[in-house]
Amino acid sequence: MATKILLDKIDIPGIKSYEVYRQNGGYASVEKALKTMTPDDVTEQVKASGLRGRGGAGFPVGLKWSFIDKKSGKPRHLVCNADESEPGTFKDRYLMEHIPHLLIEGMITASYALGANLSYIYIRGEYMWVFKTLERAIKEAYAAGWLGKNILGSGFDLDLHVHCGAGAYICGEETALIESLEGKRGNPRIKPPFPAVSGLWGNPTVVNNVESISNVPWIVMNSGEDYSKLGLGRSAGTKLISASGHIRKPGVYEIEMGITVDEFINSDEYCGGMMDDRPLKALVPGGSSVPILPAHLIYKTANGEDRLMTYESLSDGGFETGSMLGSGGFIVYNDTACIVRNTWNFARFYAHESCGQCSPCREGTGWLEKVLYRIETGQGTMDDIDLLWNIQSNIEGNTICPLGDAAAWPVAAALRHFREEFEYHVLYPEKVKDRNHFVKEP
Ligand code: NAD
Ligand code: SF4
Repeated sequence: MATKILLDKIDIPGIKSYEVYRQNGGYASVEKALKTMTPDDVTEQVKASGLRGRGGAGFPVGLKWSFIDKKSGKPRHLVCNADESEPGTFKDRYLMEHIPHLLIEGMITASYALGANLSYIYIRGEYMWVFKTLERAIKEAYAAGWLGKNILGSGFDLDLHVHCGAGAYICGEETALIESLEGKRGNPRIKPPFPAVSGLWGNPTVVNNVESISNVPWIVMNSGEDYSKLGLGRSAGTKLISASGHIRKPGVYEIEMGITVDEFINSDEYCGGMMDDRPLKALVPGGSSVPILPAHLIYKTANGEDRLMTYESLSDGGFETGSMLGSGGFIVYNDTACIVRNTWNFARFYAHESCGQCSPCREGTGWLEKVLYRIETGQGTMDDIDLLWNIQSNIEGNTICPLGDAAAWPVAAALRHFREEFEYHVLYPEKVKDRNHFVKEP
């Protein structure tokens, strides 16, 4: 059985409630940190763990914490990014829904390390019932003395609020999230300055993902070194994967990083193999923003090595032949999937969610959507395929925030690996008229 850090207690009946969570060792990391460790000791353990940001970018968490300016005299903040909106990603919801006190425990311990006395959880608007679960859990934590003034007599004060977004994907981008939390329209800011220097109300702020923060209690209770021994190399620890698509057992799984993609898809412990035993056609391993992989590059990298569930292996070969672990939104496609339709669907999402600040993204995402729609519905031309390439390459790298890249990469990868499918749509328009068509030999 694989090691579990985040999901080991999730099946305990009643674990959602404070009493049961506490009876099962909950909040012990707060006790340990506040009574026996300095804030810098906690940061050092997180640094030693090698934990990388689980929202998608994989930036080292301890390093991010160490950028916080503790000498400026300004208030500091920890903001948990619970605006989980990446298509294919639902792991943070699973944690908050079933074991909300784990995140709150992590928030307290991490806030202590950062010297933050006012922290926030920013949750997406569509997770209203989870918002209520968190509100209830925060109330319980206040009542039990884990939040508020002089926690455990340590002199450390912390107020924690949960704030609900209004349904905009862009508010998951950390600076847009901060703008939104300040009560403004969620437009991303230009970085630098990074939030660690100037974040919420201009104060030093760390923005961390739900899963990242939920790892902190285990690291404090064990050690950074113990955590770093799990996983493989720079992909330390475990990772939650949201698995969906044409597999037998969709769901949220905690894997130890370093297992093969083959094992993850085909073993009974995880996805249980392909649904209806149909052939594997493509994989999006890290949420809709990352490049799609064709069948021959899923189990093996371009160098013929086993493709592993790690940051490094999934991006091996760069964007020509690799992808990214991203947020762990693992979408599996069998041979009935139409890649053009899937690419259009993603493009439609980004066009809708673009905040409109920069022209390449505002205009380009709309153009991508329109041209893809033309091709998907059998109205496209061969020139449209080249036009798509042209548009995506003019978006990539030319925008304020990563949404532009996220809109461009899936199109580029689909064209790179599945160009014949785009051509099929142009050459055989009558065959793609049916909404549920899939691409077969003509
Ligand atoms: P990023 O690489 O710009 O930053 C990662 C983090 O490191 C940020 O918190 C940033 O402030 C910090 N950082 C980087 N360099 C720094 C420096 N020099 N000093 C201080 N801090 C520094 O990436 P990002 O924009 O935060 O995230 C992009 C990723 O988000 C994408 O890869 C995508 O996979 C993912 N994503 C996830 C979701 C989701 O729902 N989970 C949604 C959209 C996108
Ligand atoms: Fe807004 Fe798109 Fe520019 Fe990001 S890239 S700031 S979403 S217009």
